[in-house]
Amino acid sequence: MEHVVIIGAGQAGGRTARALREQGFEGDITLVGEEPLLPYERPPLSKAVLKGEASVDDVMLADEDAYRQHNITFRANCRADALDLSERTVSLSDGAHLTYDHLVLTTGGVAKSLPILGGDLEGVHLLRTAEHAAAVSAELKEGAHLAIVGGGFIGLEVAASARQCGCTVTVLEGFERILARSLPAETAADVASVHAGKGTEIRTNVRIASFRGGARVEAVVFEDGSELAVDAVVVGIGIAPDVKLAEEAGLKVDNGIVTDEFGRTSAAGVYAAGDCAAAFMPRYGRHVRLESYQNANLQPANLARTIRGEERVYDPVPWLWSDQYDWNLQTAGFPNEFDTVVCRGSVGEGAVVYFSLRDGELRGVAGLGQGAAIARDVRFCQMMMERGVSPKAEQLADPDVALKDLLKAG
Ligand SMILES: Cc1cc2nc3c(=O)[nH]c(=O)nc-3n(C[C@H](O)[C@H](O)[C@H](O)COP(=O)(O)OP(=O)(O)OC[C@H]3O[C@@H](n4cnc5c(N)ncnc54)[C@H](O)[C@@H]3O)c2cc1C
Repeated sequence: MEHVVIIGAGQAGGRTARALREQGFEGDITLVGEEPLLPYERPPLSKAVLKGEASVDDVMLADEDAYRQHNITFRANCRADALDLSERTVSLSDGAHLTYDHLVLTTGGVAKSLPILGGDLEGVHLLRTAEHAAAVSAELKEGAHLAIVGGGFIGLEVAASARQCGCTVTVLEGFERILARSLPAETAADVASVHAGKGTEIRTNVRIASFRGGARVEAVVFEDGSELAVDAVVVGIGIAPDVKLAEEAGLKVDNGIVTDEFGRTSAAGVYAAGDCAAAFMPRYGRHVRLESYQNANLQPANLARTIRGEERVYDPVPWLWSDQYDWNLQTAGFPNEFDTVVCRGSVGEGAVVYFSLRDGELRGVAGLGQGAAIARDVRFCQMMMERGVSPKAEQLADPDVALKDLLKAG
């Protein structure tokens, strides 16, 4: 009987196990996770869970019974410490050694902390796990002053949730604008205006020297000596792919565990998926590491096929969403790859969509809208990119030209 061992019981790990069973794999499956919980979805951690509107139980991929029914062995609170690629074994923190025929690495990412004085004070938080979310959620008391370090997706979602809980919120961004890594300046300015309208202060070009406090954080101290009094801090400055295990075993790593378009790493019988994987994507002609729900959901199904010997290229147009207040932000492709950006709509109208083109090719789209206002437009653009359709910038910017028609005409 073949044995698939999956290291990392997050979304990608849980999905890999399920996909194998859904596709009829009959061998043994062991899912190893260092967290105490069954695989769960992280997106609600900065949204509903943080606001106390959902519990972690609500965001589980599946309950214990489902794993039992599908004959998936789950080892919780258990860390894989070392791999022996020639013997095909994994050493676990509980002293066990597993032998595998196929090994899947879905180790995800580790939230980056700020290595500064006071960075370990009580009240300074990261947000990656359910445990983190419970700790941050407990800080969101009416009237509390929360500083958020980092104006990326996670930081801005926490800002919105905290404002909705009645906190005073200051976002501290080191770059000259928020969302600098992922979105054009115009889109980021719109997002900033939404936050400003809700009373969140966003400071840019900020240089933080330390956090001051006794046992607990009391203030953020800036390099110019000024201070911001706070009750709590959330550091949201991105993640580093968790590649320790892979690197130590000698697998090829380059901003993630390098895989081909089928999920295979540089070692025979070893695969990777999710936030930890830098997969070759033929559409872009390069290795891409995605940090998104879509990727953690879809890549495992492909990888399961590879394990079963039914190879199918994994090559989607990336898509992700973010919810901030009653606004929904969605992107497809790479909105930050452009020489030209045009838009239709405006924040004032409740929906705005930005189109990023490079050398006349549609490379990305970013929509910001109330409720589901931009969902269809983003989807049409994603389909254009899937099919290699690139309308002219003027057509994309013209609200009288339906995107659906541009897609059909392409
Ligand atoms: C707060 C938050 C909000 C988000 N919101 C959105 C959103 O709105 N939209 C969106 O598209 N995406 C969002 N994301 C991103 C999305 O959740 C991630 O891309 C997804 O969770 C990645 O899944 P993964 O399985 O690759 O990694 P993870 O979910 O990080 O799972 C990896 C697991 O592996 C475990 N592990 C690591 N090393 C070992 C080891 N050696 N042994 C055993 N276990 C190990 C880790 O403890 C972890 O449980 C959000 C993420 C966070 C944190």
